[in-house]
Amino acid sequence: MNKLIPAIRVKNFSFYYDTQKILESVSMDVYQSKVTAIIGPSGCGKSTFLKSLNRMNESEKEVRVEGRVEFFNQNIYERRVNLNRLRRQVSIVFSKPNLFPMSVYDNVAYGIKIVGWRPKLEIDGIVESALKDADLWDELKNKLHKSALDLSGGQQQRLCIARALAVKPKVILMDEPCFGLDPIASMKVESLIQSLRLRSELTIVVISHNLSQVTRISDFTAFFHLNEYRVGHLVEFGITKKIFTKPLDSRTRDYVVTRIS
Ligand code: ADP
Ligand code: MG
Repeated sequence: MNKLIPAIRVKNFSFYYDTQKILESVSMDVYQSKVTAIIGPSGCGKSTFLKSLNRMNESEKEVRVEGRVEFFNQNIYERRVNLNRLRRQVSIVFSKPNLFPMSVYDNVAYGIKIVGWRPKLEIDGIVESALKDADLWDELKNKLHKSALDLSGGQQQRLCIARALAVKPKVILMDEPCFGLDPIASMKVESLIQSLRLRSELTIVVISHNLSQVTRISDFTAFFHLNEYRVGHLVEFGITKKIFTKPLDSRTRDYVVTRIS
């Protein structure tokens, strides 16, 4: 394996909603140009952890954190961090497509337009290349001005990924991107993640309950679980193949073995 460069370093990171502790002292690296999967039972804090990587949690509630999350050596929890800039560089795709009630084109162009004015031709080019990167151009090139909300669930999810790609993020976070999709639509999202994985500049963190999918798409896997106080924590992190064949912790083994065919 080539030299691994951490894009994100999480160090002794704990997270609280109000006074309730949700995550306990998580430490792990997210390596640049790799796909890192996050697995674990429902309620163990996977989504909370993912949203902590671009401070998306803060819009929801009073939150408190301890420890650090460093994005290319800068602690994103420092006060002077520009949140809009951070979220352009570390963008997030949720399990339920959250497109705007606008055209396909305007959804993809949305992120670039809010950064500042650009000539239309340039925006056209960015929209086209984001749709191509998301393997959607051929399907949608004749529907650019149709409402995005009329697309199928799978297309909407891939369009969310195209919208995220349009602003050229360094990292894309995906929270159960295949949730609720039929097997064919799910496979298309999976193939898209595979093709993004080959683009060496992009780093992906993806939560998935589909463990066979995790073995196909990820380089590294982090297994989260609840501790005895029902607080989420990282049990084990490692190369995906190792986590699935020779996990060090019996809790990882139990979780993985009972869920993979
Ligand atoms: P997972 O994604 O692994 O299912 P979550 O991160 O969604 O887990 O949730 C972890 C814990 O945090 C759960 O106990 C959940 O109830 C709690 N939680 C999630 N979101 C919020 C919120 N906005 N406010 C308060 N508690 C929350
Ligand atoms: Mg979740």
